[in-house]
Amino acid sequence: MFAKKCIAALCAAASLLPLPALAWGHQGHMLVGAIADQLLTPQAQAGLQRDMGLTLAQAAPWADCAKGVGLGTRGFEYAADERWPSPACTRFETAEGVKAMQSYASRNWNTCGQTRDCHKTYHYADVAYAHGRYKMGYVGTNDHDLVHAINAAIAELQGQPVPPPFSITSRGEALRMLAHFIGDLHQPLHVGALYLDAAGNTVDPDAPGSTEVLETRGGNSIDTGHGNNLHALWDDIPDGLRADAVPASMLQAARALRKSRAGVGRLAQTWASDTVAVSGAAFAGLSLGPANMDKGSRVWPATFVDPADYRARQNALQRAQLTKAGARLAQLVNALYAVPR
Ligand SMILES: [Zn+2]
Repeated sequence: MFAKKCIAALCAAASLLPLPALAWGHQGHMLVGAIADQLLTPQAQAGLQRDMGLTLAQAAPWADCAKGVGLGTRGFEYAADERWPSPACTRFETAEGVKAMQSYASRNWNTCGQTRDCHKTYHYADVAYAHGRYKMGYVGTNDHDLVHAINAAIAELQGQPVPPPFSITSRGEALRMLAHFIGDLHQPLHVGALYLDAAGNTVDPDAPGSTEVLETRGGNSIDTGHGNNLHALWDDIPDGLRADAVPASMLQAARALRKSRAGVGRLAQTWASDTVAVSGAAFAGLSLGPANMDKGSRVWPATFVDPADYRARQNALQRAQLTKAGARLAQLVNALYAVPR
């Protein structure tokens, strides 16, 4: 289900397409968690150990690992995804860990208007980047998008009822979701989107009377050559960045980042808006051609006007976004544990 303004026929077609892939690779998610772990208050550290028994870096890949759960003839079964090799998911592959992933996927399976995989929609929104902000009602927003998933996890951690279509049954599960989704919220192509017509012209999906509005699925439908797509290009974090060796400069920048003043319930939307505002950089400097059909889906070929310039801008923005994500994950978790329980 896409936003209420979505054009019906196109929505139906889009819902049949494969879902956008994984935001940040597991190294990116673990790096966000590792930055946040360094910025936690003693109360938050103790709370995480009590409620989850994991650091944020360890927990960060979990929601992607849970995508390995499928519904087979014997019910919900987990199969390790080759894109998430050891050690990102192995710590969750104990008997108890697999049961937890199967439980999460099964409770968040067909509750959002789809017949399967609702939890996979929790990882993204698709707001036209030119809007410069996230607002519920825009095409690419819905009640089971990334912003709403974060707010649902916050509700569980505040002892409030979890809104439908989410099912979250423990503080540990809510924390594993937050550790991942705050990372996704800062991957530009998981919040800001480019909508095109078949000729490759940019269109505004929210403009009245738009007739041909095609989504590029977080850049998965933009072919940058050599078997790559734009989304995958942005999932790869810059060379040399590793979760087990956070650069001192990133930690320093994370500590120095001004805290968001919005209340806890407004943080996800505020940060989503910030990501939409910067996401245009991912689409600048690209030359797009008319769409080709590939296995029933439209794919737009793209070339970089100045590849070296694009790469440099991309690396700088990725570093800034990973830093913000780490700092903000810590801000949120610290705030949630600042209230005595
Ligand atoms: Zn994700």
